Parts: sequence; C-alpha cells; structure tokens
Amino acid sequence: MILILNDQVAPGHADYDSLMSALERLPQLQARVHRVEGAVRAVTEIYLIGPTEQLSLEDMSCLPGVERVVRVSQEYRILGRHKGEHRALAWDHKGVEFGQEHLHVFAGLCAVDTPEHVEAMCRGLRDNGQVCTRMGAYKPRTSPYAFQGHGRSCLDYVFEIAGKYGIRIIAMEITHEQHMDEIRAALAHTGSPVGVMLQIGTRNTQNFELLKAVGRQQEFPVLLKRGFGITLDESLNAAEYLASEGNQKIVFGLRGMKTNMGDPHRNFVDFSHVPVVRRLTRMPVCIDPSHSVGSRSRGADGVLDLVHATAQGVAAGANMILVDFHPNPAQALVDGPQALLMRELPYFLEDVAIARDAYLRRAALAARYAAG
Ligand code: PEP
Ligand code: MN
Repeated sequence: MILILNDQVAPGHADYDSLMSALERLPQLQARVHRVEGAVRAVTEIYLIGPTEQLSLEDMSCLPGVERVVRVSQEYRILGRHKGEHRALAWDHKGVEFGQEHLHVFAGLCAVDTPEHVEAMCRGLRDNGQVCTRMGAYKPRTSPYAFQGHGRSCLDYVFEIAGKYGIRIIAMEITHEQHMDEIRAALAHTGSPVGVMLQIGTRNTQNFELLKAVGRQQEFPVLLKRGFGITLDESLNAAEYLASEGNQKIVFGLRGMKTNMGDPHRNFVDFSHVPVVRRLTRMPVCIDPSHSVGSRSRGADGVLDLVHATAQGVAAGANMILVDFHPNPAQALVDGPQALLMRELPYFLEDVAIARDAYLRRAALAARYAAG
C-alpha cells in the first residue's frame, strides 16, 4: 500500500510526525519513506510493507497528511500500473522530460575511441537539433582480450566536448558502482557541462548489488536494459530493485533476446513488448535497434533492417531510442558493423518522425473507436 502525502507534508511537518506515530501502532508493518521528484512537483510517499490487506483504504485516507492511498498488487509495487493507478512516472533531467508521453533519440558512439570521433558525433547531433547522446566508456565485453573501453580516462574530454555542442544528457553504461564516483568526479572538475543517464547493460540486469547501489542515488536517472536471456517479468523486477531503493527515474530498455530463432539478426527483436511494458508499468520504454538487429543489412525496399525495427518500436509507442552511430565505422573499436553513418542521421530522424506521427495517429484512432 502506498500513502501519497499532501505536497507540503514532509519530515519535520506536524502532520508527518502524527502520521508516523499512527503507523508505528499498526502491527507487523514496515514503513519506507520515499521522496519522489516528478516533472512538476515533489511529493513524499510512504510504502507500507507487510500484511496491508487488513487496512481499509478509507481509514488510511483519513490519517493526517495523507492525500491519497493506492493499494498495490504484489507485482511491481512501485513501478506497476495498478488498478486505478494514474500517477505518471515522469521527470525532468537537465531540461529534458522523460515519461510515457515523450520520445527522445540518443544517437552516439557505442564506445568512445578518440576525442575527434566524439567531437564529430556531437557536432552532427547539434547540427540536427539533438541534445542527447550515448557514449560508452566502460564496455562489458565477451572476451577479456577485447577493448574494454577507455573508462575514467576519457570522461573529462567526453563531458567537455558534449557540453561545447549543447548536449544535455549522455547515456553511459556502468558495470561497477565505483564508476558512479568516477563520473561524479569528472563532472565536478569539468564544471558539469552535461547530465548523465546511467545505463545498466543486459549482462548486469540481475546484478542485484549494482542495482541497489544505483537505486540508492537520485542524481542520475537510469536506463535499465532487459536481460537478454531471462523473462520480461524477471527484468521488470530488476527495475523494481532500483525503485525500491528510492530511484524511480528509470527508463526500461528493450534490446532483443539472445536466441538463434532471431537469426540473421544479432538478437531476436522484441519491440512488440513496448506496449506490454507500458501497460504493466509506468516506465518510459527505450528501444535499442542497434544491439537488436546488429548489422547494416538492407531490406528489398532499400530500408535498413535497423531502421525498420526502429519504426516498429516507435509506431508501437517507444519513448526513447538508443542507437549506434560512428563518423568512421571502419575505425570503431566496438560494434562498427551495426553503426549508422553521420550522413544518415537526418534521414534516420526523419524516418523516426514519420513513425512517431503514425503512433500518435494510431493512438488517437483507438481512442476514437473506444469512445464509441
Ligand atoms: C550497449 O548499449 O553498448 C550495450 C553493451 O548494450 P547491451 O547491454 O544491450 O548489450
Ligand atoms: Mn555495443
């Protein structure tokens, strides 16, 4: 059960103290307090854990300071879209708004290699009106002998160059909680020219200690990729780990499933789960066509499979696209064969705009028919 408090009620307020004393008198219940910073307001929420079936909604709504009470089902307690649950999970980071109503493109380098390539990428993004990117510094690789990313040594120039071109948010994978400290330190001594969205990759979806550490901070929003070999339910529970520690600024990423049933694509494209995640939870949903499709194969109609997959996800309501580009894919140290070219950026964005328009028209059509 979640108690949502009136705006002004927070620790230190008289109603808050009376409420907490009342909750302490309830048997076997544990109360966890969360401060939720939404796009328009910040509220305090109290999660009651234990045998809450015995509590009536009416009684709980009458407690001091309580605005509303939500009875949650067992599944995805915080992130779930429970019966009668209309609270949006939306937030602003560095002036960019996230939620199920929005769509943002994060085009960029799978792995940072040289400052020149970072600069060419950021310049291309700026010239095409983009304020978000992806830049991999810590790369989890199958082989221990493969390039592992430049790590902390590239952070300063990545942040400085991105800031110079007006980039507001960089999605960057971390594989260890210590990477958060390295990112914080680099932001501090470059004067925080950009924001960072922490990415948890598919190989770490169930690294519960990493999830808890990332969930304990709210400075950075999180892109959590689904696990490539576990069920959707297991991956959604991984997201719930982040939220249960206090960070609800989560985008859930679809990136394809590892099975040769998806051949010749690198992974089995799973973008039909976009509406499923949006129905089961309140998280915005990201698609990663690059790691799903994994190549520049072109359809008989001349459209790249990767661009077709992107359009499928966007037409189904995706809220974010993470996509690999590279100024010179032949020189890329990771995933060059699936990178789009800089000259394809305006084309890619126009194709996305067509698919987004199709989604909005499809949703309006469905609403019209539902209204009878
Ligand atoms: C990536 O986005 O660079 C990446 C490694 O993705 P995934 O974790 O989905 O394989
Ligand atoms: Mn990659």
